[in-house]
Amino acid sequence: MRLLAIGVCEHNEKVLVLEKFGRLSLPVVEVVSGEPRDELKTFFLRSLGVEVEIGKLFGEKYITDNDELLLFYIIPPISRLKEAREANWVKMTGENLKKMDLANVVDILLENPVKEILKLQEIVERNMDRCPWGSQQTIEDALKELISEIEEFEAELDVKNWTKAFFEVGDIVYDALLLAWIYAREHDVTPDTILRKVNNKISKRKPWLFSETRISLEEAKKLWNYYKSLES
Ligand code: MG
Repeated sequence: MRLLAIGVCEHNEKVLVLEKFGRLSLPVVEVVSGEPRDELKTFFLRSLGVEVEIGKLFGEKYITDNDELLLFYIIPPISRLKEAREANWVKMTGENLKKMDLANVVDILLENPVKEILKLQEIVERNMDRCPWGSQQTIEDALKELISEIEEFEAELDVKNWTKAFFEVGDIVYDALLLAWIYAREHDVTPDTILRKVNNKISKRKPWLFSETRISLEEAKKLWNYYKSLES
């Protein structure tokens, strides 16, 4: 089986592609001996002269016909990549796809887009590290931001301005995540620990989410109260 690591870097609704023998292709490298992330990193350094951090693995796909396993990694759109001379940025439209090498990979990618929640997590993590005020924000500051976003959302809800409410609900998600990350930093835990706890809690209280059979509202409420009572 061939193992291929593919770097997916998106910026302004465009994706980074490279030109090879007059054909466009996603950055892809065959993993021969090393770790997929390391090989992809080396590939970027060789082909674009840019050192990138390889982000999260967001998908994988086995291609039976070719006996290939494709691994998709998020590549953060750092400025050196955006400016690299050999980098091409294309919208993934049908027309562009025709010009692409590895068109099957692009098709697969279109079917499995980078999960926006992972991109948001990447932004939150970078904000903690690289934003001049993000690195100084306290839990109280972050909470104030979150409350003010909730109030903004409420205000748009009151006047039924769904266009603006649409943006405000996203702001709430961003600030809620940021609050969790800042809490983690101040209390010397990992954000993953916080997410794991809440994932476990909800999974225990709502076991029917993972069952084959659907249950009624009454049954759900009964079970919820039962599992909640076990916690105290
Ligand atoms: Mg807002």
